[in-house]
Amino acid sequence: VVAIGSEGSAPGLARALKADIETRLPKTTGRLAGTIASLRARLSGIMPEFADRQKLWAGIFTPGQGLGERLKYSDTELEQAFEQALDGQASEKIGKVSLVGAGPGSLDLLTIGAQRRLHSADVIVYDRLVSQEVLDMGRREAKYIYVGKAPGAHTTRQEEINRIIVEEAKAGHTVVRLKGGDPLVFGRADEEIEALEAAGIAHEIVPGITSAAAAAASIGASLTSRGHNKSVALLTGHDTKGFAEQDWAGLARPNARAAVYMGLGASRFIQGRLMLHGASAEFPVTIVENASRENEKIIGTTLGNLVQDIEKYEVLGPAILLLGYSPKEASNIEFQPLRAGNE
Ligand code: SAH
Repeated sequence: VVAIGSEGSAPGLARALKADIETRLPKTTGRLAGTIASLRARLSGIMPEFADRQKLWAGIFTPGQGLGERLKYSDTELEQAFEQALDGQASEKIGKVSLVGAGPGSLDLLTIGAQRRLHSADVIVYDRLVSQEVLDMGRREAKYIYVGKAPGAHTTRQEEINRIIVEEAKAGHTVVRLKGGDPLVFGRADEEIEALEAAGIAHEIVPGITSAAAAAASIGASLTSRGHNKSVALLTGHDTKGFAEQDWAGLARPNARAAVYMGLGASRFIQGRLMLHGASAEFPVTIVENASRENEKIIGTTLGNLVQDIEKYEVLGPAILLLGYSPKEASNIEFQPLRAGNE
C-alpha cells in the first residue's frame, strides 16, 4: 500500500505522487514483504539488538543503490542476500573488551574514560569490589555479569571469567570488564589479556585509581616523601601459595613504606615476619578500610597493635594497610576511629 498525504492542501499532487511511486514498485513487492516477515522472525531469534537488525536490513535495501532493482529480488535471491549480510555482519561484528579500572568506590574517583566505556557497554562483567555507585553509571540496557564472591567463598574461577569475556566479545558485544581500583594492580588483568589475545579479540586498558592512592589521600600522607622514602612497595598479603613472602629485611627498615593489599587475613603473618626482621613494635601502620567510600574507616595503629586493632575495630575490608604511615591531621579526615584507638 502506498499512501501519500498532503493534509488537504494538494490532493491532486498527492494522487499523482502515489501513482508515480506505484508504477515504480515491482509487482512482486508485496510477496517480498511476506518473505521479509518470515526472515525477520528468524533474525530476532539470533540477533537480539534492534540496532543490529536495522543495520542488517539497511545493508540489504540501502537507498540510493538502485532500490527498484533490489525490489525485483526473487525470494531465493533475497534469502541469499540475507545470508550474506548475516555472515558479513557476524564477521565484522566481533566485539571488543575494555579492561576498566573502577577506582576505589567513590564516583569522584571514576575516570571519564571509564564513564564513557560504561555508557556504551553491551555487557558489564564486574567484581565484588566495584561499588554500586559505579555500577549505576553503566548503560541501563547492558547485561550485568557478576563474577566475584566474598573472600574465602568459592570464587568464579579465573578461567570462567576469561571464557565469559571472550564469548561475549565473540557474540559481537562491547564488553566492559570492570575491576576495582586499577586493573593492573593485583587485578589478574594479564591472564585476561592473554585469553583475549589468544582469541584474537581487540582489547584496551583504561586505568583506574588504585586503592593505595585513595587510602594515602584519605589520610593526607604523601606516598613518597622527599628525604624519607625513595620508594614505596605495593604488596599483596596473599599469593597463589598462601601468605605472600616479601623482602622482609628491606620492609623492616625504619624508613620503609609499603601499601598492603589483601592484607587483613595475613596481618598476623606480616606483623610476625617484620618483627622477626627487626621492625619495631612502634612502627606506624594505618589501616584504611573502604577508602573513598561513605563508610570509610581510618585506624592509626602500630605494628605491635595491628592484629588486635583489626579485631577491635571490626575491620572487615576491603582495606589497605599502610606500613610506615601515620594519618596526618587534616580538616577532611575523619578521625573518629583513631581517637577511639588513642583512648
Ligand atoms: N585492583 C585493585 C586491587 C585488587 S586486590 C586496586 O587497584 O585497588 C583487592 C584489595 O584491594 C582488597 O583486599 C583491598 O586491600 C584493596 N581495596 C580495594 N578497594 C578498596 C577500598 N575501597 N578501600 C581499601 N582497600 C581497597
